[in-house]
Amino acid sequence: MSEYAMHTDAHSNFWSTTLGERPASRPRLTANVQADVVIVGAGFTGLWTAYYLKRLAPEREIVVLEAERVGHGASGRNGGWVVGNLAGLERHIGGLSREERRTCCGVVADNVDEVGRVLAHEGIEADFNKGGAIYAAARYRDQIAIQRDYLQHLHELGHSEANCCWLDAEQLSEKARFRNGHGGIYHRQVATVNPAKLVAGLAECVERLSVTIHEQSRAETLSHHKVSTREGSVESPMVVCATEGYADRFLDFKRHVIPVQSLVIATEPLSEARWQEIGMAERPAFADASRLINYGHRTADGRIVFGARGNYYLGARSKADQAIDDEAIRMRRDLLVDLLPALEGVRVEYGWGGSLGLSRNFRPHAILDRRDGLATAGGYAGEGVAASHLFGRTLADLILERDSELVRMPWAFANDSHRRLIKRWEPEPLRWLAAQAITFSYAGEEALMRRDKPAPLLKPALRRLNDRFASIIE
Ligand SMILES: Cc1cc2nc3c(=O)[nH]c(=O)nc-3n(C[C@H](O)[C@H](O)[C@H](O)COP(=O)(O)OP(=O)(O)OC[C@H]3O[C@@H](n4cnc5c(N)ncnc54)[C@H](O)[C@@H]3O)c2cc1C
Repeated sequence: MSEYAMHTDAHSNFWSTTLGERPASRPRLTANVQADVVIVGAGFTGLWTAYYLKRLAPEREIVVLEAERVGHGASGRNGGWVVGNLAGLERHIGGLSREERRTCCGVVADNVDEVGRVLAHEGIEADFNKGGAIYAAARYRDQIAIQRDYLQHLHELGHSEANCCWLDAEQLSEKARFRNGHGGIYHRQVATVNPAKLVAGLAECVERLSVTIHEQSRAETLSHHKVSTREGSVESPMVVCATEGYADRFLDFKRHVIPVQSLVIATEPLSEARWQEIGMAERPAFADASRLINYGHRTADGRIVFGARGNYYLGARSKADQAIDDEAIRMRRDLLVDLLPALEGVRVEYGWGGSLGLSRNFRPHAILDRRDGLATAGGYAGEGVAASHLFGRTLADLILERDSELVRMPWAFANDSHRRLIKRWEPEPLRWLAAQAITFSYAGEEALMRRDKPAPLLKPALRRLNDRFASIIE
């Protein structure tokens, strides 16, 4: 054990400890039934789709099948950022006019307020807090230019200057005090939630609207208009596949959207004295400029939940268990303390992980294939908490044939198939080798920048190479 103390049993999900006693499992599907829509997967995508279908068309019979328990996948395990952006947005809107881009950015930004509004309206208590997000240059000087470029990119993309603005060092230190807080971007349209409370509350909410949820009911086959589990089946004109990074059973989807692992830690609740040093009174989300992503936020009970450095594993298996090893916890804790020196000696009480879905097109999608009676949404690439709300709502509009603004967004596809719209991932070991090469190259660039010494040939060369990688995968 290093100089930082850790619980020896720190290998579990903090969020699930906030739910109180776990209720008994919902009944399994044990009969052959019929429904207007059957949804596979009780994470955010499946449940938001059910929610909007029921709100818009209360007479429809909706059945949700979940292989394990509600929130078993990424929705019950994530870092809790509710982001007013989409990973891969540029790929959807890069070719549109400035006006159209601004409209799309407005839709994803407003989506955050819409999540907050619905939670308040439905009485879902999930610690929703709109404290914005800080994307800081917090460790070394080169990060200032990286973040300045990123801010310019956000504005060119269509995000408003009111929503995304620059903080100089002093303004940054008023919000949060990092080791080397040189400055950073402040994004107003970002909130945070306790995701386990959100997914549990949402499930109860849709049940109140008379959606049927079956747990421990793994779909074995998804054929046209019929989903079968080991003990029963649901016949329906519309099947929604909402399994994102957990589509192991469905090769047909997994060829296009693969699981990538993401790991998170939670500290002990911090003392008031520590919070005085750190700041973050508005409980913002925070990240610092790195291609090797890191992100965190101050929880409602005064901890820091912090995630960093997703990984792709050979063979693309979803992470069913939640445990992560000591080394993974230690690496994230050291990175967190490097960002926030006031955390020196902090105890890490929890560490856990899960799988998110990455589409081969590196952008999320909401697709309805009316001919086959099949709909799906996902590929959120680690930014799925807010996106799943927007995309679940979009799927509901597509299914109900509503002529809404959402179905006209470039990520919404009516009457098309995921097989045609999303490329297939390359076979192994090509995928794994490419992921290793990119991670290695990103880590090399970061190590050079950390040294804070000039490397007139190597630095720009690595930056160009990594920009190229990023343009391919981000
Ligand atoms: C550690 C981690 C941190 C993250 N942090 C953030 C963050 O801070 N902000 C953010 O925006 N995004 C974050 N994400 C991503 C985000 O959590 C996901 O994109 C989002 O939750 C996806 O929701 P979903 O409902 O589409 O999929 P999931 O929540 O993964 O749900 C899929 C469900 O399908 C079920 N299922 C699978 N196969 C079957 C079957 N055959 N039959 C029945 N059910 C089945 C699974 O059991 C699972 O419950 C993070 C992800 C991880 C793993």
